[in-house]
Amino acid sequence: MYFCNQKLINEIAEDGPDPHAANALQEGLGGQFGEMRTFNQYFFQSMNFRGKATAYRDLIHAVAVEEISHMELIGTTINRLLDGAPGFEGKSTPGAKGTTPLEVAFKGGNIHHFLVSAQGAMPIDSAGNPWSGSYVYASGNLCLDLLYNLMLECTGRLQKCRIYEMTKNRTARSTIAYLIVRDHAHENVFAKALESLGVDWGKILPIPSFDATKWPEVNQLMKEGLHLQQYHFRLDNSELAAIFNGKSPSGDGELSVPDEAPIGVPIRSAAERLEEFSPGLSPELQELADAAKSLMGTSALAAFDDQKPTRKKSREKVRLK
Ligand code: MN
Ligand code: MN
Repeated sequence: MYFCNQKLINEIAEDGPDPHAANALQEGLGGQFGEMRTFNQYFFQSMNFRGKATAYRDLIHAVAVEEISHMELIGTTINRLLDGAPGFEGKSTPGAKGTTPLEVAFKGGNIHHFLVSAQGAMPIDSAGNPWSGSYVYASGNLCLDLLYNLMLECTGRLQKCRIYEMTKNRTARSTIAYLIVRDHAHENVFAKALESLGVDWGKILPIPSFDATKWPEVNQLMKEGLHLQQYHFRLDNSELAAIFNGKSPSGDGELSVPDEAPIGVPIRSAAERLEEFSPGLSPELQELADAAKSLMGTSALAAFDDQKPTRKKSREKVRLK
């Protein structure tokens, strides 16, 4: 079962909208090597796990749980890049001076971001193909699954490095940089697991092999050692550290399993977009929604706002039986 902390796993930098960058990031969400696949692939592998080598199940499961946060991070980044895109580059109010409110939909990017969703992320790749469960590889053979997982992380990192080179948008780059470094960490996770089963990686890792510290956003995160850590995200015990320890298979430091999950960043609700008829609440309907919220009472709401649901606190809560 799962508990959650209503926060983003990493901060998204502020910048203007960019529907082209948003569409490029769709590959990282719903593409063949995107976050929807990494989550589902590791989730099915850990759920279907057989045998006594349970530390490997814990290792795969730890990454699966993290990938949920990556889906949310990259999807929210796509939303920030799309939100307000009809006034793209700050040139106009949607619909002003003889323009149509949603004419941005005809200017490249993905028309579905304006036609099907309301300036929001979709479970598709950057060419508009819907995400497919057939991308998921879960063979039941541990060594094969680990090899496939390493290939998946390497390809994910390769594609994100390419997207980094496509855009200067700081909103896009902050998330791409974070995912490049976490893909590096996950390359280390699966490579270390295979190393524990006898593989010698030599100098092949990480893939792609180049000095990623030349990119300032990536450099900052690597200085913090984010490519050498794997969270276990467990309220009970995990055997992950039995495998993920010692020298990094990328040859760039010592691996560690922090006991606490990342602190996270508060999630903010997006603004209304009237040109999309979203959320579509008329003043009368808004009144009903406000009335429902007020039924909770101000003290209950204040108590809710006061809760800073750190992982430690939620664990304490769970242990109160
Ligand atoms: Mn990921
Ligand atoms: Mn990953």
